[in-house]
Amino acid sequence: MSKSLVEPTQERPTTISESGSRQWLYPASFAGAWLNRRTVVNVVLMALFFGLPWLEVGGHQAVLLDLPRRKLAFFGLVLWPQDSYLLWLLLFTAIVGIFFITSQWGRLWCGWACPQTVFMEGVFRRIETWIEGDANKRKRLDDAKLDAAKIGKKLLKHAVFFVVAGHVANTFLCYFASSERVVEMTLQSPASNPGWFAFMAAVNFVFYADFAWFREQLCTIACPYGRWQSVLLDEHSLIVGYDRNRGESRGTKGDRRKNPEQSYGDCIDCGRCVAVCPTGIDIRNGLQMECINCTACIDACDDIMVKVGKPTGLVRYTSLEELDGKDHRFVRPRTIGYGLVLVIVITVFAVVASNRKMVEAQVVRASGPSVVTVADGWITNHFRAKLVNKRDEEARITLRPQAGYDFRVPMNPWPVAAGKTATMEIFVRRKLDDFKPGGGDQVLFVFEHEGEEIARQRAPLLGPGMAGRPGGR
Ligand code: SF4
Ligand code: SF4
Repeated sequence: MSKSLVEPTQERPTTISESGSRQWLYPASFAGAWLNRRTVVNVVLMALFFGLPWLEVGGHQAVLLDLPRRKLAFFGLVLWPQDSYLLWLLLFTAIVGIFFITSQWGRLWCGWACPQTVFMEGVFRRIETWIEGDANKRKRLDDAKLDAAKIGKKLLKHAVFFVVAGHVANTFLCYFASSERVVEMTLQSPASNPGWFAFMAAVNFVFYADFAWFREQLCTIACPYGRWQSVLLDEHSLIVGYDRNRGESRGTKGDRRKNPEQSYGDCIDCGRCVAVCPTGIDIRNGLQMECINCTACIDACDDIMVKVGKPTGLVRYTSLEELDGKDHRFVRPRTIGYGLVLVIVITVFAVVASNRKMVEAQVVRASGPSVVTVADGWITNHFRAKLVNKRDEEARITLRPQAGYDFRVPMNPWPVAAGKTATMEIFVRRKLDDFKPGGGDQVLFVFEHEGEEIARQRAPLLGPGMAGRPGGR
């Protein structure tokens, strides 16, 4: 059996102690070029997250998965339940996109764009550091006995956490219930919308608990994406890695002084890469499932390398092949395969979405004993038309009359509310003298909306005693 790329390097996650209890992590602060880049990306992503619910495109909130109305709006494209095939196509595109991106750039999403990392490292960790200090101070504070200073700091931190988490949670809800509705409900008394209020309170609490307590465990224990790494990555995928060939054998300054005859690598075993890691792992142990590719250890190690007068990049963006001294290949069968499938599904989605009809009609034969009736020299067939309106306003759909056939419908045109479907009952009457028996009599249904033809469909007219025959429904 082939060896997995991402092997466990220890028996238990870094956040669980030998006794099974939670081991609290205190990642140290650091500075560096990658942190600066990530900060810029974080600011842009947060601006998008908080801003998009207030942006309108084509009369709709730019991004909205309107659960009560079962409607998805995405930068002007509006999908209704009748467009579920497009939603599945969108989902499939997203999955193939994840496969492609991961095979090429590893856990780029986790380190740079996942909301958990963006908010945890970009907002909540910073707030915690401002209030409680850097890693050592935070640990000392947690170990200290409860006094006024500790209570004050903890209360302040959790109050700020709660307010910020609440704002994040309410913005998150805007993507599912519309910003207008969330603002409206926030300004009303909880008694006016008890269900929604309870839901909002629960979401607020979950976000607060995640950033204040659960933290890195979401990545290391709960999130399935980390577990997919062993199948999605290969030896050429981009990873954050430690250059073992250059770093080993590692030795502190003391070790080097004591053993001047021994040859050491560039790693001075200072532990800074471990100290800054938000998931508490040691990058020198190789590719690990818990590594979210946040680049903190790159910055920490580069800083040390500069201080000891060595070239930076002992820990860097690299690939397993490159770390083995081989060439990194960007184009390979796996990425070509994922890329091709991605191009195909995006093309199919674009073609299907752009040819989608906003108003549709489809006729089926009605069921039941009265599907065909004969009386007073007339033969009557009962049909039903399913009318679909994917627009944001009411549609009035007209059944066009046909010479020789007498259409009886309760209303013509038939109104269909925005985003809804309706059923038009159609009774088609034909003079018995004109009727061509044996299924040769075809009635043509033509539907119009705003003067334009939207559907055209033929159906055989049944005669006496033909209901239930093959082709009679
Ligand atoms: S090992 Fe490095 S890149 Fe991976 S999570 Fe830790 S600090 Fe981030
Ligand atoms: S920060 Fe660099 S030098 Fe220090 S222990 Fe980590 S890899 Fe070695």
